[in-house]
Amino acid sequence: MQNKKLSSKDYKEILFSIPKTEIHLHLEGMASVDTIWSLIQKHKLEIPGINNRDDIIKRFQVKNLNDFIDLFLNIIQNCYREEIDLTLQIKDAREYLKRNNIIYTEVFFAPSKFLMNGFSFDVMMEYLDQGARKIKKEDGIDIKFLIDVSRSFGPENAINNLNLILKHKKPSIIGIGLGGAESKGPAEDYKEVFELARNAGLKVVAHAGEDVGPESIWSSIKDLKVSRIGHGISAIQDDKLMDYLKETQIPLEICPMSNIFTKKYVSSYKDHPIRKFFDHGMYVTVNTDDPTIFGMELIDEYFNLLDNDIFSLTEIFDLMKKNLYATFLTTTEKDAMWGKMEKVIKQYR
Ligand SMILES: [Zn+2]
Repeated sequence: MQNKKLSSKDYKEILFSIPKTEIHLHLEGMASVDTIWSLIQKHKLEIPGINNRDDIIKRFQVKNLNDFIDLFLNIIQNCYREEIDLTLQIKDAREYLKRNNIIYTEVFFAPSKFLMNGFSFDVMMEYLDQGARKIKKEDGIDIKFLIDVSRSFGPENAINNLNLILKHKKPSIIGIGLGGAESKGPAEDYKEVFELARNAGLKVVAHAGEDVGPESIWSSIKDLKVSRIGHGISAIQDDKLMDYLKETQIPLEICPMSNIFTKKYVSSYKDHPIRKFFDHGMYVTVNTDDPTIFGMELIDEYFNLLDNDIFSLTEIFDLMKKNLYATFLTTTEKDAMWGKMEKVIKQYR
């Protein structure tokens, strides 16, 4: 199919109509303006510069990394004052997933900051788990959690997070991730916690090569033995690593807009390495990272890749399939879900 014959609206409808998966998505990154405003009112919070709903809308229009950090730390995370507030976050996630026809997702949840504020891990996870079960029952959408043990607060905090996961087992928690400040928390420092997690049967992934060079990706593979790499875009600087990723087919969870936004290695779709990785035979997937914060949802990501002539529609279908097969579902579950996706895709081939 030619890219140019249909309108943008037609393409977005096609992209919507296919049931999809997403594997690099942060829970707070789906927060809505309404949730934040209702929490500010509920807890009577005084946040400088925020006097009404419109002020929040303005702060959601982030233009650079500082705006993003300000919104994330000072507004979004600051508004959650008790565990039950997370039920609103699950409601936002549900709306986001429905808007984009995402039927299965693995979502990062970072509890460290909340635990420091006195929240109970068990109560938080009970709300999230209950919410996930309700969404599965009512909408047929499956949400699994990867607990971000965080590299921002040191290995001891990460082990503490892992112990909480193991102590309060929930069916929706399937593994751990390593997020936070990549430049301040080298992967090798988290070798022990990842080994313990793997031995306990948890899946393991890590953000790497988003803000630090290829050595961070190597270390995540060799020291942490991760099943997937979050971002991984600095692999473009290391031919040996690109070959290794091709051979091993370790999936990269690429979030193009997030990378363009943070501007560490790329500043536009055109200079994003995703196409080079794809042509090299590496395993790439497309995700959003923090969709409501960047104002860029999964359908928009796929659409922009089409619109900028980075991928054809047929290749986008392939990327959707790759995303599904990079999940932690069983092969039988993946094949069944691909059956559903392929049925819709066939109409457009
Ligand atoms: Zn991320």
